Amino acid sequence: NNTTTQPSLSDVPKRYVAIIGGGLVGTLATLYFAQRGWDVNLFELRKDPRIPENSENSGIFQRSINLALSVRGLSALSKPNLDLEKIVLESAIPMKGRMIHIGKDKLSSQPYGSFGENIYSVERNFLLESLFNTVESFNNVKIYFQHQLKRCDFDKGLLEFENKEDGKLVQYTADLIIGADGVHSTVRRQLMRIINMNYQQEYIPHIYCELTIPPKVTEKGNETEFIMDSNHLHIWPRHSFMLIALPNKNKSFTCTLFMPHENFDSIKTEDDLITFFQCNFPDFIQLIGEQQLKKEFFHNPKGSLLSIKCKPYHYRNRAIFIGDAAHCMVPFYGQGMNCGFQDVELLDSIFDKYNITSFRSDDDKLNLALEEFTNIRQPDSVAICDLAMYNYIEMRSRVTSPLYLIRKKVEDW
Ligand code: FAD
Repeated sequence: NNTTTQPSLSDVPKRYVAIIGGGLVGTLATLYFAQRGWDVNLFELRKDPRIPENSENSGIFQRSINLALSVRGLSALSKPNLDLEKIVLESAIPMKGRMIHIGKDKLSSQPYGSFGENIYSVERNFLLESLFNTVESFNNVKIYFQHQLKRCDFDKGLLEFENKEDGKLVQYTADLIIGADGVHSTVRRQLMRIINMNYQQEYIPHIYCELTIPPKVTEKGNETEFIMDSNHLHIWPRHSFMLIALPNKNKSFTCTLFMPHENFDSIKTEDDLITFFQCNFPDFIQLIGEQQLKKEFFHNPKGSLLSIKCKPYHYRNRAIFIGDAAHCMVPFYGQGMNCGFQDVELLDSIFDKYNITSFRSDDDKLNLALEEFTNIRQPDSVAICDLAMYNYIEMRSRVTSPLYLIRKKVEDW
């Protein structure tokens, strides 16, 4: 038997929380629990993302390279009083509106607010690394990389992992289990076996592929600059598909082409690709360059998009799941991570309300707190999943309608 067991926790008065998933949401949750004084074990399936060959940009991961951070996410980053908001904003690029590329060289700027409100373009890797660096500064946190959760016994607080380094099974115990293990959550799946969970998932016909517009070399040739306005989220809406671009600190843009998979499948050769882009995004070919477009379109991974709704998010005083595990949404509202961060902030405020301490004395209160989290959070998550689905049509189509553009002009005036 290659199973090893941690000593029982029964004589330890302090609470242990096991956080499953060291993505953006799980690492932020780790910080909040560490600050509350809990002993935290963070388990992550993958290797440490701060080592360059393991990073999200290395091609191992199929996820957006940059993300739009909004006030929801910023509020959660500002709370643990760790300068996180400052660190992240220092390397973020403000986007004050969307720039619609209507036809060849025809642009329309649509501000996000009348009072100079911004969202921010942040690099996923940088954000994740900043979170891990901060997590590591707490001595009540232990991080276990390459640990894949396989099975939970929620009533006993028992978790079984496969250690990916040696293939051995290891067991840990925890008073509270937090599933932040993303869209295909094992914690959620394990909970479904023991509670009556309503669950709904929907794949949309669109898939996505990321492309990079490189920085422009200045005329003198010794510097680089952005090739387009860097303070906008750029959109090329084409009704049944669209392309978007967010700026990066190194003056490149990360672009995402969202299109039904049949359209992707119909582009088989480099000639098909160039004809398709000449027809639909002629200005984009000039920005990215033919060679770069050909290389990335055929080489970069294509990702599918889905929306998940479920209820409840908790089990007694034993477990809860948050982030994409609870409410994965299509990315058109730019709120998936932001909502996951808000989950963490909300859970923390509910713990404050019930005065949940880091000692094992108030299990009934913990039960009530977790139940309250489901009751408050679930309807809001469903609403934002629906809004994200609605924005799927808005972004690729409605933003170009003559009525919409006239209304915008009148509002601006
Ligand atoms: P994840 O980031 O998926 O992290 C889950 C972690 O759990 C992973 O590290 C995984 O390795 C680990 N894990 C999984 N299973 C196990 C297991 N069994 N054991 C141990 N560990 C496990 N959101 C925004 O707010 N703004 C945007 O602009 C935006 N743009 C997006 C663009 C695209 C194309 C996509 C696809 C998404 C976008 N999102 C955006 C959504 C955002 O990426 C997600 O909402 C966010 O990453 C969710 O974070 P998470 O920590 O819940 O899940």
